[in-house]
Amino acid sequence: MNLGESENILYSTQTVIKEALEKLGFGDDMFDLLKEPLRLFKVRIPVLMDNGKVHVFTGFRAQHNDAVGPTKGGVRFHPDVTEDEVKALSIWMSLKCGITDIPYGGGKGGIICDPRKMSFKELEKLSRGYVRAISQVVGPSKDIPAPDVMTNSQIMAWMLDEYSRIREFDSPGFITGKPLVLGGSHGRETATAKGVSIMIKEALIKKEIDILDAKVVIQGFGNAGSYLAKFMHEAGAKVVGISDVLGGLYDPNGLDIDFLIDRRDSFGTVTNLFKKTISNQELLEMDCDILVPAAIENQITVDNAEKIKASILVEAANGPTTLEATQILSDRGVLLIPDVLASAGGVIVSYFEWVQNNQGYYWSEEEVHEKLEKIMIRALNKIYQTHQTRGVNMRLAAYMVGVRKVAEAVKYRGWI
Ligand code: NAD
Repeated sequence: MNLGESENILYSTQTVIKEALEKLGFGDDMFDLLKEPLRLFKVRIPVLMDNGKVHVFTGFRAQHNDAVGPTKGGVRFHPDVTEDEVKALSIWMSLKCGITDIPYGGGKGGIICDPRKMSFKELEKLSRGYVRAISQVVGPSKDIPAPDVMTNSQIMAWMLDEYSRIREFDSPGFITGKPLVLGGSHGRETATAKGVSIMIKEALIKKEIDILDAKVVIQGFGNAGSYLAKFMHEAGAKVVGISDVLGGLYDPNGLDIDFLIDRRDSFGTVTNLFKKTISNQELLEMDCDILVPAAIENQITVDNAEKIKASILVEAANGPTTLEATQILSDRGVLLIPDVLASAGGVIVSYFEWVQNNQGYYWSEEEVHEKLEKIMIRALNKIYQTHQTRGVNMRLAAYMVGVRKVAEAVKYRGWI
């Protein structure tokens, strides 16, 4: 696919990083270092498939910057994984860690594959093969993987087991997003949605909207979107619209969220059960107070930014809004909570999991939520303050807060 510059996530990430570093007074040398990962590994993973033939998969691991601490970030299994995507996502992880002030740098991994077409056995061999390929460069104090698109706690368990075999000691802090019985953390599965719901509640306070009067539209009904719908429904907001890859549902009186969650399949599809649906593009423009893109990139662009009715946009998905659309929405007074903050709940609870593994003492779900809330609200306030005092849009403000920590760590270490 040939993307325009504004839709290429590496290009748009670098554009905002450059602007943020300039605003903070860092020189071109800092941009030159931070515009790309410090290290990028490309690995080849042979897997004996069920049909008796060997298929060689390509995988990546990017370590953006480890000046602050070990790098950290998910591994995605998807046919569209590219080197540029993994690089951009590793930079985003550095920003997320900087924004939330957790002691990591950014990392990310990916394998070009389609898990929907692979057996359980093939997925296990691929997961173990990936760990063998990168085992020299990862570890609990070097680079800590986690789940991402189409990877889950079972895949983390296989990866943990392979790493522990290679290293010959049990090493739960090597990876996060594990099953509870292998040292996972309470609240990890719902962490992203929980973080988004905390951001929505804070945004409603800033916009002086009572949550009981709030109407929410959520694009995407997978892990992030469906849990978020549940949390918003439980908090008393009206979820008036949802969608999946096939289309959207909208009811101004509120949808039956419990029913939809009960009926959705494991890929987050549910609209196929309904005769009357709307398109995803229509859904984004429907009447609501809060719009949450929780599916894929580049959904809000110059073509529809003027038509968005919501006064609050919270980006649960990575990169759902282009840079031009961000400025249009900001000029229109829409409060945008950018992806690098809104979807940081996952990495924060991953950090909690690693801390619990390191100390061998485990927290309750309530403790996890309480600590998550504190970190996310503190981060939002820092960004909101930067937005107001520096007169920059919320995305640039978030990048300024996030990249500052990395750049300062680089300076203190004397790298630049
Ligand atoms: P998921 O695979 O569980 O669900 C994706 C949902 O989006 C499904 O309902 C799917 O039908 C829908 N979808 C797919 N293609 C679509 C399209 N073209 N148009 C409209 N809908 C489409 O994924 P998820 O884990 O919920 O992640 C969703 C987004 O949130 C992604 O951008 C992901 O990177 C981001 N995110 C997720 C997490 C997490 O912990 N799950 C953390 C950080 C960021």
